[in-house]
Amino acid sequence: MSYIKEVLNDEYDGKSVHLRGWVYRTRSSGKLSFIVLRDSTGIIQLLASTKKLPENKYREISSLTIESSLEITGTLRKDERAPTGYEVEIEDYILYQRNENYPITKDQGEEFLLDNRHLWLRSREFTATMKVRSTVFKAFADFYFNLGYYEVQPPLMVSTAAEGGSTLFKVPFFDEEVYLSQSSQFYLETMIFSLENVFTISPSFRAEKSRTWRHLTEYWHAEAEAAWLHNEEMMQVEEKMIEYIVQEVVKNNSEDLQTLGRDIEFLKKIRAPFRKIRYADLMKMAEDWGLGLKYGDDLGADEERAIMVHFDSPIFVTHYPSYLKTFYHKPDPENPSEILCHDLLAPEGYGEILGGGERISDLDTLLKRMEEYGLEKENYYWYLDLRRYGSVPHSGFGLGLDRLVLWILHLNNIKEAIPYPRTIRRTKP
Ligand code: ATP
Ligand code: MG
Ligand code: MG
Ligand code: MG
Repeated sequence: MSYIKEVLNDEYDGKSVHLRGWVYRTRSSGKLSFIVLRDSTGIIQLLASTKKLPENKYREISSLTIESSLEITGTLRKDERAPTGYEVEIEDYILYQRNENYPITKDQGEEFLLDNRHLWLRSREFTATMKVRSTVFKAFADFYFNLGYYEVQPPLMVSTAAEGGSTLFKVPFFDEEVYLSQSSQFYLETMIFSLENVFTISPSFRAEKSRTWRHLTEYWHAEAEAAWLHNEEMMQVEEKMIEYIVQEVVKNNSEDLQTLGRDIEFLKKIRAPFRKIRYADLMKMAEDWGLGLKYGDDLGADEERAIMVHFDSPIFVTHYPSYLKTFYHKPDPENPSEILCHDLLAPEGYGEILGGGERISDLDTLLKRMEEYGLEKENYYWYLDLRRYGSVPHSGFGLGLDRLVLWILHLNNIKEAIPYPRTIRRTKP
């Protein structure tokens, strides 16, 4: 038994091959029938004829419906007219399932395809997307394993909010309520005191009420935290990580990028270091571009889109005014109204894919900031303890892996980057 991709080469010309998969397309002309077979690795044209098959078997295979499943034996020949350059003449086959008519056809609306995501997943486009996604997840983990980081598994049912109340999901928990985790950052911070350098890939949950092209309610969050590192050093590791992931996709997924029409030459040029721009300077640039933004404005999906059409490589934006971000970011000692944080914005109009920075490591500063944000310190007793016992400078980040896939593949909506998108209106299938 072989995978289709393995036999798509001259070595198999004239040889017997044994394949299995699903009917992708059919075309019949009297005594000849062409079937395109699909498996996880590719497609290949099959030829059925009464020359090689008894009448009843020929009749059965020449009337197969799309997505019927079968196993075949036959002889492979080079044939330039076939869609992938080779054709197999069927000598025998086993039919696993003959389908009803397959409900997915071309030109169906977005909602229909979302309702039928469990079937749409089989499309060539989505298969390519999932292969790239798999590379992205693996490359992220490999990058940090290679640096000596430990992978850790924080809890997802929590009682301490990490990113603010407005997007918290509350769920019943026996006689109480808990939150679904918005970020594992605080738990990662607890682990740097034993492991120093840690990362996790886990879901984060956010009750995003507005519908945008880049927000899900359940998304995959890659987070890391490192003891001793300052903001600048953290950015240097991150830009190498992004370069590594993008170049792994270029190396391993060139066919998938082609299937999806993504410009590979553009991706090859994504190389560290990335430009670092202070928020204040970016606002001046935005003014020159006539974007109607001024110092102090928050940057959301629309604003970042308008800014990032001006760039062809990711940029770091640093030194945001502290009131634009949450409480744990370390104030810049030279100008305490700004913080030592960074957002990594993707080019081509995509915007934020990562947010990170240096954390406050001093207890008094942290307590003061929590008071300003109206947070009850009792809930955060364990987070505060980290500043009581052996506190060290440290930095970390959260990267939205679905957003990274969205940008790498130049997709229109984050829903196209994840198998089963969860949004305010959709929890099925
Ligand atoms: P945004 O400004 O787009 O709402 P955020 O600043 O609230 O994002 P962070 O709290 O910084 O997000 O989370 C870290 C990363 O997680 C973000 O940079 C982004 O890539 C990703 N992310 C955040 N919220 C979502 C979401 N609702 N769906 C998908 N990815 C998300
Ligand atoms: Mg947000
Ligand atoms: Mg943001
Ligand atoms: Mg952010």
